[in-house]
This record gives sequence, structure tokens and C-alpha cells, in this order.
Amino acid sequence: MPSAIVFFGPPGSGKGTQASRLAASAGILQISTGDLLRGHVARGTALGAIAKPIMESGALVPDDLVTRMLKERLAGPDAKSGAIFDGYPRTVAQARSLETLLKETGGRVDNVLFIDVPDAILVDRLLKRATLEGRSDDTKETIAERLRVYREKTAPLADLYASAGVLVTIDGDRSVEAVAADVESAVARRRAVKA
Ligand code: ADP
Repeated sequence: MPSAIVFFGPPGSGKGTQASRLAASAGILQISTGDLLRGHVARGTALGAIAKPIMESGALVPDDLVTRMLKERLAGPDAKSGAIFDGYPRTVAQARSLETLLKETGGRVDNVLFIDVPDAILVDRLLKRATLEGRSDDTKETIAERLRVYREKTAPLADLYASAGVLVTIDGDRSVEAVAADVESAVARRRAVKA
């Protein structure tokens, strides 16, 4: 897996939307741990049974379970040339696991795109999504908990990736197109540096 692009940001920042757009335009596989977990819940697997109540409470599924699930996904033939990660890593421990998984195949994290959006806007967006998509973790209480968990466990990844020199912060409080344009140019800049 030569190249990994990580999208990271608070719930509701639009990282999933941006990750799918980039995946489509660059022809790279997108891996969303949230979607993978929802797939397990829908199929009623053992992992799904454990994950369901945790996700509904707004907490994080334990690192070891998520990392094992991700490892399985990365073993697929479609993940050979790289992937765009959305919603992973979400903790410092997961970031270390990702590094280890990538190292095994000679890859590394090339870009970390941090989609930054103020809290007030996030709550608005998530409540709107609750009405549109009916996701069971988009209730007012769970949204507050997910934001709290994000600040505590996930936000520290910004410092980690900034010190590694791969972090690009993008203002996510703009139209999908404007954010996507910045994402494309950040990825292109990085490719030019690598080439
Ligand atoms: P959002 O970013 O809007 O919160 P996701 O689909 O990425 O949505 O995640 C939904 C839920 O799935 C999270 O609140 C968490 O419970 C679980 N989850 C997703 N990815 C991870 C991960 N990498 N580690 C632990 N839990 C995760």
C-alpha cells in the first residue's frame, strides 16, 4: 500500500463527503471505518453486536476491534495501491496502528487533510443530517458526546501529524466545491514534492 491519504476532522465536518469526492476523482479506494462498522451492525456480525450500543452512545469502538477490522479490509486486493481513510485513525493508538499496518506493506501516510469547522456549525449540520438520513447516532445528546470525544481523543492527532509534516488544515466552513478544490490542490502539491 504505497500511499495513504487521511481525512480527519470533527463529526459533521464533511470529511466523508470530501473523501468520496477525492476517491472518485483520483480513482483511489475509500475506506470509512464508520461505514464498515455500520455494515457489521446491518449484517448482525459479532463485531456489529458489540459496536451498535457503543456507536449509539457516541463513544468510540475499542481500538483493537477497529484496527482488526481495518487490517482485514486492507488485505483485500483493491487496497494494494493505496487508500483514502475517512474516520480512521481517531485516537493516537489508532494512528500508531495505522503506521505499523502501512509499514508492513512499504507504505506511509502521505497526506492528512484536517477539515476544520466551528462547533456551532457542526451541531447544526448534524441535526440536519439526523432529519435527512435518520442515523441513529445523530440525536442531540449523542452529537454533544461525539463532539466531546472528538476533542478529547481525536483532536490531538493534529499535533502529531503536524510534527510529522503531513498535516494540511482546510477551512471546512465553506461550500463542498470550495473545500474540494483545496483538497485537490493539497494532494497535488504533495505529489509534486514526492515526485
Ligand atoms: P462521524 O464522523 O460523523 O462521527 P463516522 O461514521 O465516522 O461518523 O462514525 C460513527 C461512529 O462509529 C463513531 O461515533 C464511533 O462510535 C464509530 N467509529 C467510527 N470510526 C471509528 C474508529 N476509527 N474508532 C472507533 N470508533 C469508530
